[in-house]
Amino acid sequence: MHELSLTQTLLDLALKNADGRRIVSVNLLLGELSDERPEAIRFYWNDVARGTLAENAELRFRPVTAKMKCLQCSTVFHPEETVVECPNCKSFRVKILSGDDIRLAGIDVK
Ligand SMILES: [Zn+2]
Repeated sequence: MHELSLTQTLLDLALKNADGRRIVSVNLLLGELSDERPEAIRFYWNDVARGTLAENAELRFRPVTAKMKCLQCSTVFHPEETVVECPNCKSFRVKILSGDDIRLAGIDVK
């Protein structure tokens, strides 16, 4: 159900940007640490966009590389698959800077 409300939010945003024009495609940035599944969003999109100007719009997902920052020494790094430790000082006190969510990058209208 989480993906349904997320899709609804993305749709609302896209429609607002479209300003009454028909949406041909929707460009989304998908962070590599995000657990959203493109196929689930496509599935819900068919539902929530029906009857709107975004009906039948093509969803394009672009991957976004994750970035993390060490809170100990401020090194910014790309996290390895499972181990999230600073490559510089080996600290585990890190925070995610980007790549853990999904965002609307833009839309194409007609
Ligand atoms: Zn560090």
